[in-house]
Amino acid sequence: MQINLLSDTVTKPTEGMLKAMFNAEVGDDVFNADPTVNHLQEKIARLFGMEAALFFPSGTMANQVAVKIHTQPGEQLICDKWSHVYNYEGGGVSFNSGVSCNLIDGERGMFTAEQLMEKVSNREDIHQAITTLVTIENTANKAGGACWNLKELKKIKQVCQQQDLALHLDGARLYNALIAKKERPQQYGVMFDTISICLSKGLGCPVGSLLLGSNEHIKKALRYRKTMGGGMRQIGYLAAAGIYALDNHVDRLVDDHNNAKKVGAALEASSVIKKVEPVETNIVIFYTNDDIDDTDFVNKLASENILITGMGQGKLRMVFHLDITNEMVEHVVQVLQKL
Ligand SMILES: *Cc1c(COP(=O)(O)O)cnc(C)c1O
Repeated sequence: MQINLLSDTVTKPTEGMLKAMFNAEVGDDVFNADPTVNHLQEKIARLFGMEAALFFPSGTMANQVAVKIHTQPGEQLICDKWSHVYNYEGGGVSFNSGVSCNLIDGERGMFTAEQLMEKVSNREDIHQAITTLVTIENTANKAGGACWNLKELKKIKQVCQQQDLALHLDGARLYNALIAKKERPQQYGVMFDTISICLSKGLGCPVGSLLLGSNEHIKKALRYRKTMGGGMRQIGYLAAAGIYALDNHVDRLVDDHNNAKKVGAALEASSVIKKVEPVETNIVIFYTNDDIDDTDFVNKLASENILITGMGQGKLRMVFHLDITNEMVEHVVQVLQKL
């Protein structure tokens, strides 16, 4: 029994999902002729109360296309210093869109409307890059799956409206936030110009992300997706997995959150662990005591068939997902108690 806590991207399709994929009706999506893709796109747009959606091969491409839609070369976007668009997309915002990132020194991947206000550039000053976009990440990945406060997001939206800034949500794990905070998709749909959502994380699909927005934005996104080489053919097989996940894998995210909390508590109780970040969703970030080498710690767990990620400087991460059973969680807790 291998317990893979490296990421929630490691899941394999369930039998039900495979069956849905196998039975999908497909067509050539570049000719807009795949009924299953269209069904998925319409379904998620309806759930969020937004006009349209577009399927993407990855969350990175969905974010990159969103940045492209909202900016012109030379402009600037504002995001938290820990955000995925800045740290983990290969410098794509400058490569694809020619924009720079003005980083906010936030708290656990999140910031306030006030902090945003301080960063917005002065359009009258020709020395400054023009700010045109703000990106938010919910849940905040690098912070350990932290969830934003909806009230603060509303204030941020007001700033964006006053300053004429577009607002994009990197919602790779938005469904984890919705479940943890008991929020509704429409509350986000009304607030953001575009939202990207990963099907391949907690929702358990083998591949796929969606970008949601207005008809006008999604029309542009279709063109940019093609430009980036993301026009695909019989992807109804993948969209069928997405439809299945939205119908079957959303409510169960609470199990992942509970498992993360259980293991988080076991880590708290361990004498070799210095600190555990608050566990809000499916990610647990923690630090070993200074006298313990984190690589040794990772190897020790690996020898018990538990795979976790070392993030450097004593920082370690576990991610809970669909393929982690109660039995596995018990085993992890027992191993931690023995350390
Ligand atoms: C995983 C992730 C993405 C998208 O990553 P892909 O691997 O390209 O699908 C974007 N943002 C965040 C916060 C993520 O965790």
